[in-house]
This record gives sequence, C-alpha cells and structure tokens, in this order.
Amino acid sequence: MSWQQSISRLGRFDEKISLASHTTLAIGGPARWYFRPGGESELSEALSLIPDSTPILPLGRGSNLLVSDQGFDGVVIDFGGLGGISSDQSELRAEAGARMAKVAQYCAAQGLAGLEFMATVPGDLGGGIAMNAGAFGQQISDTLRSVRILHRNGGISEINRDQLQMDYRHTVLPTGALVISARFELQNDNSESIRDRMREMRRQRSSTQPLSLPNCGSVFKNPPGDYAARLIEAAGLKGIKIGNARISSTHANFIVNEGKASSEDVLTLIRMAQQAVEEKFGVHLEPEVRILGGIS
Ligand SMILES: Cc1cc2nc3c(=O)[nH]c(=O)nc-3n(C[C@H](O)[C@H](O)[C@H](O)COP(=O)(O)OP(=O)(O)OC[C@H]3O[C@@H](n4cnc5c(N)ncnc54)[C@H](O)[C@@H]3O)c2cc1C
Repeated sequence: MSWQQSISRLGRFDEKISLASHTTLAIGGPARWYFRPGGESELSEALSLIPDSTPILPLGRGSNLLVSDQGFDGVVIDFGGLGGISSDQSELRAEAGARMAKVAQYCAAQGLAGLEFMATVPGDLGGGIAMNAGAFGQQISDTLRSVRILHRNGGISEINRDQLQMDYRHTVLPTGALVISARFELQNDNSESIRDRMREMRRQRSSTQPLSLPNCGSVFKNPPGDYAARLIEAAGLKGIKIGNARISSTHANFIVNEGKASSEDVLTLIRMAQQAVEEKFGVHLEPEVRILGGIS
C-alpha cells in the first residue's frame, strides 16, 4: 500500500486542491496533496508515513500567506479537525485549528482576559502561534505558557514559551515541527468588560482596514519606531495598481486582490514598496506575510 493510500484512512486526503480558496488573499495554485486529519493521533500517525523528501505545509486560515500561482508540491495539512478549546480556572487550552475569534469568544464567556485581540485576527491558533500574532497592545507571547509540538517523525513534545524565542511577529519552532495545541495563563475578569473591549477593537478595525476585498492583513512588519503604512504612503505608492492587485487606498500596508490578481502582481507591489521606501527613507521593510514557493 502506498503512503497516500495509508494516509487516506486517517482523515480527508485529496489531490490537486486550489490554495486560492484556502487563503484570504484568494491567490495560490494547487496543492499536490491536501490532508485534513481527524485529530491529533491521526495527524501523528500520518506524519510518520509521509516520506521525509515530501515537503509539508501546515495551513491555518491562510490569512498571512502569499502562495505562488505554481502551487505547492507537497502535502498541505489542514488543522480543521483539531478545534477543541477548554479551560481550568485561569488556564486555557486550545488546539491549533481553533479559530482565534472563537478562542476570544470562549474566553469572554469564561471571564478570561488577555486574548481579546484575537477577536479581530482571522487566523487559527496554530498560525497565530507561528506568527506570534498580536494587536491593540496584546500578543500571543504575553500569555502563552507552552505549546504541544508534533515533530516530523511523528513524536510529540511540550515546549515552554521561553524556548520559542518569540518576538514581534516572530516565533522559532523546531525545524519541520507543527503546533498541535497550546496552553495560556490568563487573568480572571468580568465577561461583559471583556466583550466591551472586543467590540471596541472590532469597531476600530472596520473603520481603518479594507476588509471588503481579499487581503492578507499587514504586508510588512512595522519598522522600529515607525509604521510601514506611513512610509509607503509617503513614498507615493498608496493606491497604486499592478495587474489586479492594489496597494490599498484605505491602508497602505494592505494589498488587496481586486479580481484575479496573480501572485506575481502582489510580489511586484511588495518589491516596489520595498525599493521606494529604501530609496526615500533608507528603511528596509521586512515582509510580515509569508511568501510560499516558486515565485521568481
Ligand atoms: C484582515 C486581516 C487582519 C489581520 N490582522 C492581524 C493582526 O491584527 N495581528 C496579526 O498579528 N496578524 C493579523 N493578520 C495576519 C494573520 O491573520 C495572522 O498572522 C494569523 O496569525 C495567521 O493565522 P493563519 O491561521 O491564517 O495562518 P496561515 O496564514 O495559514 O499560516 C501562517 C504561517 O503559520 C504556519 N502555520 C500555520 N499553522 C501552523 C501550525 N499548526 N503549526 C506550525 N506552523 C503553522 C504556516 O505554515 C505559515 O508559515 C491579519 C490578516 C488579515 C487578513
């Protein structure tokens, strides 16, 4: 029996799935294989079956990914089957496939404060940990206690936050490792106060970001002491369009897909913004969006 046949017993296993429908930018060619395990033990068994030479891409909501139109020649792992959330007093435990917005709602219902920003970030917890997601003065590393990691050989270990070298939109996971769940230490608070803070964060978001068109959130990290959006606007690139991708005229650190934009359209805008800001201000803009595969 081939490894593909063995894996198809452990969850949903498909071939040639368009990644454009699995990224918030709505861009990306096909994944050679797409696997959605039924749960943690199925994922662990599957990993030990996939040959070492076959690349693996852990995928959350695809809200921080620019995937090449060439697609991904390997196995995409979808964490949709790992969505559990539970708590015990001030400790929260959630699986990698739990939507961050759902985690925020759960916390509000339980009177647990510290992850309100998650109400405004459209990713899964695993992607959030890989990115050290944050907003409104909060970030995952503030309250994260430990993560449960699945290694490429199928082994599992628990890693404390301090071993992950977490920084602004930056986490160091062991090579090839997947986050399968995490524990957080939160503060007890009144549910209504938590919900009020979440509402206010959502309100601020919808008035400042171009949320009606496909996008990937902030394209660049903010450089120390400044804002990428301010620099791109001051370099004269706000609103500029290449193919069907545009540097948003609402928020210059967003690139929006106005139709069937290609990965190359977006990448051209990224390079133009980097070059213009470097020339004008001597500042290097580091992409926050993760750029995946085959883009020349
Ligand atoms: C409208 C909008 C607003 C946004 N606002 C914010 C914001 O305020 N703050 C912020 O920080 N981000 C923001 N983002 C970006 C994005 O939502 C975050 O980076 C989020 O954490 C990505 O989660 P995801 O599940 O979509 O990850 P994906 O985009 O699917 O993946 C991101 C990276 O994580 C890796 N990954 C995913 N799951 C796992 C796993 N289980 N184990 C190991 N690696 C994994 C992927 O391989 C990839 O390298 C925004 C995006 C959008 C579209």
